[in-house]
Amino acid sequence: MNLILMGLPGAGKGTQAERIVENYGLPHISTGDMFRSAIKEGTELGQKAKSYMDAGDLVPDEVTIGIVRERLGKDDCKNGFLLDGFPRTVAQAEALEEIMSDSDRHIDAVLYIDVDQNKLLKRLTGRRVCSHCGATYHVEFNPPHEPGKCDKCGNELKQRDDDSEETVRARLEVNAKQQKTLLDFYRDKGYLRTIDGNRHIDEVYESIKQILGSLQK
Ligand code: ADP
Ligand code: AMP
Repeated sequence: MNLILMGLPGAGKGTQAERIVENYGLPHISTGDMFRSAIKEGTELGQKAKSYMDAGDLVPDEVTIGIVRERLGKDDCKNGFLLDGFPRTVAQAEALEEIMSDSDRHIDAVLYIDVDQNKLLKRLTGRRVCSHCGATYHVEFNPPHEPGKCDKCGNELKQRDDDSEETVRARLEVNAKQQKTLLDFYRDKGYLRTIDGNRHIDEVYESIKQILGSLQK
């Protein structure tokens, strides 16, 4: 299955992606994660992305499309993939259509996690991520067993630099603007599957499983 997870920052894409990739064996392709590792490693890509990320802006399309094109060309994506956080603009979505048709593939579904915007600030400012394995927690909604420590690997949990209240507000504004046209794009193509993301993490995942089950039939 070639899948896209869509939703505003904080909608729960990373949280659901962890479960989907574990149960369906798909490679998880998160452009945000790719940029964060590039920054950590001090590569040229990281240098290009950092100022945009710090400001809560989108990294330019040509940079983002380039890394996704390269990633989707790798062998582990031949039998399916889960895109998380890409595409975020119509230009990116159009480029993805081209990448797919050039390699005789198509998108099977866009899973759109729809969450009331007034919930997102709290979700993002309370998010904590494992510095080692990347598992995602929330101080209130999905706390680890031991505060500040990852349940899976025991390493330290950290707050992302761009999860400060000021940057979160900028990110939500930029992304909400882009998301509207992107949703229309995928609705017109017939790919869009909307999931109510206001519910408990487990309930959201149940809905995703149902959709994926129907795609596999
Ligand atoms: P995204 O990848 O879409 O930005 P995350 O999966 O990182 O979002 O989730 C953002 C924050 O909200 C995390 O702290 C996560 O634990 C929490 N979260 C995710 N899904 C839910 C949910 N259904 N209800 C409450 N909190 C959630
Ligand atoms: P995320 O981890 O998905 O919340 O993304 C973190 C940041 O990475 C975003 O605020 C953007 O600056 C950048 N980013 C991630 N994905 C994209 C994308 N598809 N297009 C442009 N910028 C992106």
